[in-house]
Amino acid sequence: MSHPGSVKLENIVKRHGSFTALHGIDLDILPGEFFAFLGPSGSGKTTTLRILAGLEPVNDGRVLLDDVDVTHAQPGERDVAMVFQSYALYPHMTVAENIAFPLKMIKTPASTIESSVKEAAAKVGIEHLLARRPGQLSGGQQQRCALARAIVRKPRLFLLDEPLSNLDAKLRVETRAELRRLQRSLGVTTVYVTHDQEEAMTVADRLAVFMEGRIVQVGTPKEVFLRPANAVVAAFIGTPPMNLMPATLTDGRVSLEGASLPVNGVQAQGTRDVTLGIRPGDLRIAEGRTLDHDIPTQAIPARVEFVEDLGDSVIAILTVGGQHVKMRLDQHADLKEGQQLFLTFAPTAAHLFDRQTGERLP
Ligand code: ATP
Repeated sequence: MSHPGSVKLENIVKRHGSFTALHGIDLDILPGEFFAFLGPSGSGKTTTLRILAGLEPVNDGRVLLDDVDVTHAQPGERDVAMVFQSYALYPHMTVAENIAFPLKMIKTPASTIESSVKEAAAKVGIEHLLARRPGQLSGGQQQRCALARAIVRKPRLFLLDEPLSNLDAKLRVETRAELRRLQRSLGVTTVYVTHDQEEAMTVADRLAVFMEGRIVQVGTPKEVFLRPANAVVAAFIGTPPMNLMPATLTDGRVSLEGASLPVNGVQAQGTRDVTLGIRPGDLRIAEGRTLDHDIPTQAIPARVEFVEDLGDSVIAILTVGGQHVKMRLDQHADLKEGQQLFLTFAPTAAHLFDRQTGERLP
């Protein structure tokens, strides 16, 4: 059996007048993948999604769905279904009529429509709401209705643009897990746009990180988390994100603030300027040292500025050489504001980036 639903973008360029929104996007999405577009506002995620849907013409490049060039095909000829942030439900129609709409457009027989609508509504848990109108639904129910309308036609590609952004935090977390299950059971290739890195990390099989109209990294959530391709991606992923500090690298050791610590994996000759990245959870307090005697060379002096208690963990905001650095500790950590301490980290916890280009050092 063939698995339809592959997506290929080749050198997609999109301009708005003199402004270039996309600078040559190349991307391969595999059949059945749950693929996220992640990036800050204005980085080009929605533009790329709209190009996939056929809602936006390109200035250069090609779009291939299942190896067929659809660059100039109309939206209706692409067999894709899109769910927008705003849901875009028809307010004067019932839920059942909204869900049935795409089937009516392709002139499906009435008997088939009824059973397909019930099936789609059941998959998203809104069978009991079919007679209502969108105005009589909660935000979460409207979102499910929009999803049911997208899945009723069994398209080869779902395009979801920040589908959960109108839901409150708790519902968003619940719904994203359901969405993940639904996508798995349907097996339809799904592209999911979000600026929320936690959302992308939890739902996606793989993701592309967008920055300023370019894709700067593609990988599984784990790959992107463990090996961010550059300092900008590193600063965007993780809660709180990675700390980035100027340092120098010499013979397998980094130096900063009078301390020198070993790091793994980077062979550099001579001394070079780097940006040292350490995740908040990877920083450790070096025990048994005080500022008064024996200033350690293996630990970085820091001062506690502020302690944020999150219940299950504590985030300490520290100053290291005039810069703010975050450290995650377990809930029993007893830190006082104003306290001086020394920081350390495992050699494997260090991420090193070229200070000038920001690129990860291998
Ligand atoms: P968001 O998360 O805010 O939706 P995004 O990553 O989806 O951001 P896009 O909506 O793709 O970003 O926009 C990419 C860039 O293109 C932005 O800088 C935006 O201002 C610009 N842009 C989009 N549409 C137009 C337009 N019609 N005319 C001019 N510039 C546009």
